[in-house]
Amino acid sequence: MNIVLLGAPGAGKGTQAAFLEKKFNLVHISTGDIFRANIKGGTPIGKVAKSYIDAGKLVPDEVTCEIVKNRLSEKDVEGGYMLDGFPRNLFQAEQLDSFAKIDACVNISVDSALLMDRICGRRVCSCGASYHISTLGGRTTCERCGQPLYQRADDNPETVGARLETYNTQTAPLIDYYAAQGKLLTVECGNASPEEVFEMICEKLEGLNK
Ligand code: AMP
Repeated sequence: MNIVLLGAPGAGKGTQAAFLEKKFNLVHISTGDIFRANIKGGTPIGKVAKSYIDAGKLVPDEVTCEIVKNRLSEKDVEGGYMLDGFPRNLFQAEQLDSFAKIDACVNISVDSALLMDRICGRRVCSCGASYHISTLGGRTTCERCGQPLYQRADDNPETVGARLETYNTQTAPLIDYYAAQGKLLTVECGNASPEEVFEMICEKLEGLNK
């Protein structure tokens, strides 16, 4: 099963990806994580990506599509994968269809009024765990692995505003794109906990095989 995870910044794609990885044994491919690793490593891709990420804009399609195409040609994805943060516009979605077979698009729908607070309060760990400051009670290390938590450089109010705008104008049209292909599975989160959202996603995915 090959899945696209769609949702605004802060919708919880990374959290749900971690659950899905465990339950369905899918390889988690996050273009944001790939860019951040390249920035940390000072690679040429990292140098190109940084200015776009800092501005809340999309890294150019040629760079992004090439990375994903190469990643999907690796052996480990043969048993199934989920794409987190790709595609982010119609061009990328069409490119993806030219080199991959996507079975479903899980659209994680969250009230947009909640997103700014969720992202600006987010603290992450390099192991992939993600927290909100309101639930940390002052703790500064990861509950899962003990490493120090940090705030992503682009999780600040100015950049988040630009990222939400980018999502609304460029990424949200993908909802119709996947609906037209009969592949859209939308989960309305409301006040549901991450575990409850995961249950809803599982129900939808299991319904696919019926
Ligand atoms: P994320 O971790 O998914 O929130 O991505 C962080 C940033 O990386 C985004 O705000 C973009 O600047 C960049 N990025 C991630 N995925 C893509 C993509 N598919 N296309 C272009 N830029 C991307």
